[in-house]
Amino acid sequence: MTTLRTAAQLCEHAYVPSERRQAIETVAARYAVALPQSLAALIDRNNSSDPIARQFIPDVTELDHRPEELYDPIGDDAHSPVEGIVHRYPDRVLLKLTHVCAVYCRFCFRREMVGPDKPTGLSPEALTAALDYIRSRPQIWEVILTGGDPLILSPRRLRAVMKNLAAIDHVKIVRVHTRMPVAEPARVTADLVRAIRIKGKPTYVAVHVNHPRELTAQARAACARMADAGIPLLSQTVLLAGVNDKPEVMDELMRALVECRIKPYYLHHGDLAPGTSRFRTDIAAGQELMRQLRGRVSGLCQPTYVLDIPGGHGKSPVGPSYVRLCDSQEAVVEDFNGAQHRYPAR
Ligand code: SF4
Repeated sequence: MTTLRTAAQLCEHAYVPSERRQAIETVAARYAVALPQSLAALIDRNNSSDPIARQFIPDVTELDHRPEELYDPIGDDAHSPVEGIVHRYPDRVLLKLTHVCAVYCRFCFRREMVGPDKPTGLSPEALTAALDYIRSRPQIWEVILTGGDPLILSPRRLRAVMKNLAAIDHVKIVRVHTRMPVAEPARVTADLVRAIRIKGKPTYVAVHVNHPRELTAQARAACARMADAGIPLLSQTVLLAGVNDKPEVMDELMRALVECRIKPYYLHHGDLAPGTSRFRTDIAAGQELMRQLRGRVSGLCQPTYVLDIPGGHGKSPVGPSYVRLCDSQEAVVEDFNGAQHRYPAR
């Protein structure tokens, strides 16, 4: 079985019951579908609430667009001075090399922009203009390769981009955001790992993982190939109802990441992407989950819970806060058991 891309294929392999085929065809006509073998194999077809299926099998509710949902939920377009660049914060830019992914997540915040029917990537001219933009702005310290999934590109193309970035003195860090180690771990070859390393400058890789079952032996081996090559690994996880919104699942996921030498970095609150309301939790529930995580597992396992403010206003940490009061005299700080303690203001 190769990657499943149509409602007919999902029905044929019993990931979707045949009576839902027509509805799923309508969804697939609107939003890209791809389910690679490595993830398909994790799905328990007898479990109607399987957390892997929930992330990747299309659902008819995706056509239910709510008034609060936005085509561009994190406001990339408002901060895109040239094609392929998003420059939201002074010291860093996103460089979007491609709109293609190995798997299409049903909750994706860029779901309106990604897919094989979208422009496949930056043309050579657009890439030159994007690199010129970075080159001419000395305040850009970090370049974040995102997409789509940048690791869908060949090692040859990645090597060329990295070589260009390496030649820009003021760019000190390159960060790659990817779901590839989980989606198609075999594509994270030694050659690809060599291609994303820059001599003299650290490349960080942020791996997108939402459920502990995604960290298969193959996915762990793909991450190990990067870690062994000296690439620091971070994680990003999206808080998803029915996937990882239970404390025991989040504990297991964060511990598993650390065991794979991946430092938990972000837990994203679900963005207001069209047709994704079935995944969203409320912020208070996310804060409670973080509070439980803090009380139960090592500090190494703590991501920052963040929300992207619609309109392109950036990410903000959304708690929880352990400071109950803070004035000129004193602070009241809560411990991980919920007990409150006074502390002098200075
Ligand atoms: S891999 Fe990332 S960009 Fe691609 S569909 Fe999933 S969340 Fe979206």
